[in-house]
Amino acid sequence: VQRCGRGLVWDRSKATLPDARERTLIAVKPDGVQRRLVGRIIQRFEQRGFKLVGLKMMTASEDLLSEHYRELRTKPFFHSLQSYMTSGPVVVMVWEGHNVVQTSRTMVGPTNPTVAQAGTVRGDFSIHVSRNVVHASDSLEGAQREIQLWFEAKDLLDWDCCDQMSTSE
Ligand code: ADP
Repeated sequence: VQRCGRGLVWDRSKATLPDARERTLIAVKPDGVQRRLVGRIIQRFEQRGFKLVGLKMMTASEDLLSEHYRELRTKPFFHSLQSYMTSGPVVVMVWEGHNVVQTSRTMVGPTNPTVAQAGTVRGDFSIHVSRNVVHASDSLEGAQREIQLWFEAKDLLDWDCCDQMSTSE
């Protein structure tokens, strides 16, 4: 049990599920930023119950994109993907929570928007595979690799939620 100030107490023994610290990388791509979808995408992850632990806006370099999409380097669309992804700012985030990698992929929807269900980000906001609004890591290993690529460890914040605190005295 640890004091958190103002009489609040955080009881770590009651803390959450074993994999509640799982993390994934979500990025609003340049088309999503340009279409003012950032707030709505963040809202979906907040309302689902995930915790935002890192956030920044930046224009990615070609080198960063080349590393991020290294498995796609031989694809015919790679160069257009790279120039699309470097064409304007992206909003890159790290979200934390139980099964966040897999659940985020479900929330984002499949790569091809023609088969993305309404209710998913791509199913609601996208009609073309090359302008599909958002990125979500596709595996635990991929998430770890991408988080290290886009963020420095010091820019990821650990914080406790007031929902899990009780007032003392
Ligand atoms: P996802 O983003 O769903 O994980 P991939 O890793 O297969 O999908 O592809 C990465 C990104 O490359 C896609 O989100 C999309 O922006 C782009 N992309 C994938 N396939 C195509 C394609 N056939 N034509 C153009 N762009 C594509």
